[in-house]
Amino acid sequence: MRPLEIKTEKLTGWDVVYKSFDPAGEKLRESLCTLGNGYLGLRGAASGKSHSEDHYPGTYIAGLFNTLPTMVAGKKIFNEDLVNCPNPLLFSFRANKKKWTDSDETELLSHSQKLDLKVGLLLTTQRVKDRSGNITVIREKRIVSMKHPHLVCLQYDITPKNYSGELLIRSSIDGTVENSGVPRYRSLNSKHLLPISSGLSQHGILHLTMKTNQSGIEISTASKIKIFRGQRLTKPRVRLVKEKKKTSCELRVPAKKNETIRVEKTCAIFTSKDNISGSAKANAIKTALKAPSFSILEKSQKETWSKLWEKCDIKIQGDLFAQTVIRFHIFHLIQSASKNNIGIDAGLGPRGLHGEAYRGHIFWDEIFFLPFFNSHLPETAEALLLYRYNRLGEARKYARKSGYHGAMFPWQSGSSGKEETQSIHLNPMSGKWGPDLSRNQRHVSFAIAYNAWQHWVITGNRKFLASCGAEIILSIAKFSASLSVYDKTDGKYHTEGLMGPDEFHEKLPSSGSAGLRDNSYSNVFIVWTLLRAFDVLNLLSTEQSQKIKKKAGISAADLKKWSDISQKMNVTINPRGIISQFDGYFGLKELNWKAYRKKYGNIHRLDRILKSEGKSPDDYKVAKQADVLMLFYLFPADELHQLLSGSVCNFNKKLLRENYTYYETRTSHGSTLSKVVHCYVSHLLGMDKTSINWFTNVLEADIHDAKNGTTLEGIHTGIMGGSIDLALRAFAGVVIEKDQITVQPRLPAAWKQMDFCFQVRDVLVNMKVSNKSVRITTEKQKPGAKELVFIIKNKEITVPHKKRVSVKL
Ligand code: BGC
Repeated sequence: MRPLEIKTEKLTGWDVVYKSFDPAGEKLRESLCTLGNGYLGLRGAASGKSHSEDHYPGTYIAGLFNTLPTMVAGKKIFNEDLVNCPNPLLFSFRANKKKWTDSDETELLSHSQKLDLKVGLLLTTQRVKDRSGNITVIREKRIVSMKHPHLVCLQYDITPKNYSGELLIRSSIDGTVENSGVPRYRSLNSKHLLPISSGLSQHGILHLTMKTNQSGIEISTASKIKIFRGQRLTKPRVRLVKEKKKTSCELRVPAKKNETIRVEKTCAIFTSKDNISGSAKANAIKTALKAPSFSILEKSQKETWSKLWEKCDIKIQGDLFAQTVIRFHIFHLIQSASKNNIGIDAGLGPRGLHGEAYRGHIFWDEIFFLPFFNSHLPETAEALLLYRYNRLGEARKYARKSGYHGAMFPWQSGSSGKEETQSIHLNPMSGKWGPDLSRNQRHVSFAIAYNAWQHWVITGNRKFLASCGAEIILSIAKFSASLSVYDKTDGKYHTEGLMGPDEFHEKLPSSGSAGLRDNSYSNVFIVWTLLRAFDVLNLLSTEQSQKIKKKAGISAADLKKWSDISQKMNVTINPRGIISQFDGYFGLKELNWKAYRKKYGNIHRLDRILKSEGKSPDDYKVAKQADVLMLFYLFPADELHQLLSGSVCNFNKKLLRENYTYYETRTSHGSTLSKVVHCYVSHLLGMDKTSINWFTNVLEADIHDAKNGTTLEGIHTGIMGGSIDLALRAFAGVVIEKDQITVQPRLPAAWKQMDFCFQVRDVLVNMKVSNKSVRITTEKQKPGAKELVFIIKNKEITVPHKKRVSVKL
């Protein structure tokens, strides 16, 4: 069954609807129906469900990590996890002393669920029958408040359909949770929480405080229950039920056939790492007590989301699937990072606040989703970049420890900014642990420099550039230069020991040392970083640049060397113009792709397949994901030409096609990020059918869990950001550069029109594009914001604020 069912009677493009219960697909739905607000994320598990084979409730707070040791193969390893915090939602009832509705003996007569993207609500309706034949309709609405980041609220309507009598309602806060959402990690220690206190406050607020056992962060959850019979608020006696890591309250309510009992459960969540005065517990209890009613929270949720959609929506006419999924992606990105991230010092990982894969660590995937934040929610983008800026000190230490200069960011980053990549990795195909060398992907640092630069290009935020962005870029430039080694014999700079985004190649066949020589992606990026570092210095005042050079430890000799490296960096290109992924790549063996596809069907993870056969991907021309092609995704042709100058005379479309064809046939797309890149590059090449196929793959990645089981462990924020970028940059053809915005739409055949807006350098741009015309209006967001220059049909057009400009194509 396709997990996304779109209602046929009324196509809205705003809902994800499930009309039946599918135990096998439940954990996937729980990821996809996660509600969040940037501060916290709550998986969409039914409120009555604890962790089981079919369900995995999860509660994640941005930046809340804990590290635990585990003995694996006689070695003590440490893993830092984004902690699964106490489940605030647990809720159940029973009618007339029969079984609890969450018991296995309850029969589910019908089930439907709707994620309403427009207003940020999750709605579930169930008809259940207990063993004695009592039938009840349960209607649940859930909010994770975007306006009040610490509040989560549940409205639970219980309607007895064929009985009267008494309901016993039980509302819990469940701290028995562990980090067990990813089967591959189950042999690792996963108990992060210690109980601290629990009870009922003087005003009847149920509360539980737990503490992480290594990082020492207190997490307090408090909940208020209100019960209505019809319109009337009733105040039944509350009985406290205390367990070691769980606290519950029980309430008895008379029930009448066909009369709805409404329960409102409002939860407040605080931690000792929040910027608060007083304890987490005191804040949680006070906030729960004073929390507004569900209807007020629902109203504010609608208003907040409506404002967000005004800024962020992309309307696509003619393709309801693309429309729904693009909105679904925008929705989940905003839920993963929002204005609520400002001031909380948390990064955004590849799996959002939706699951435990990759332990919530932060990777290079930012390069795929930051474009969305830069041009739609720039303050949130800044907060995410600050997460990196705040860890520059750690990145400097890491560079020094590894024998480099400047700042080297870790491949996987958690709370401190130290390297969190595992040193060993479990191959689920062979069941064996093997070395994990992926930390040699030093390109994560280049991505951070790129993100800081793009933030400047799109927002024009000089204050951020001067206070943080410049220091990030210059410190990474210094690191880049220290990776580059001059070889007198060929007069070129080379790099050793690095891995590109393609993680299949960890070293050269039979080489004793990890990493590769002259990974082209890294080498080109080194040149880019150094050139941008010069641009940054030119943008700053003399005083500012002196200050930052001093902070980043950059001397005149460094600048001289940077200039030399940028002109003499080696990139190996064969006579056909194909960029060698790394030195020695062309000498590797070809794989019989047909035979492997036939034997294994799904060969996304060829690395695991080859290793389980006792072979090594290092020996073959195979790639997990676009490595060389990524360069064409990131850099416009003229810029890439400049970056490659010295290595190739003219990088034209023919060479681009050669590279695309060469690498496309040798890539297994073990990471879906690869499909984003292939979509973009094939679009550049005018291969419209191919590119829309890739785009459909990208759209299906999460909503249809195209990689069989990975989305249950969290969404893929990189793909979500990538799909939005493709819609805007490839199909609508909007390319934002330093001084101008080029618009060159080429919409997929089914798309009639796109309407969207974005912000560039304090100007809000509204655009309507089709293959026949472009319509633009702009509006200042801040006094003094300059008019923007657009290039359409090779003509320069300066668009005056508040005046509509239309161009026929
Ligand atoms: C990819 C990486 C990515 C990570 C997290 C891996 O499978 O190869 O490029 O950063 O997933 O999304």
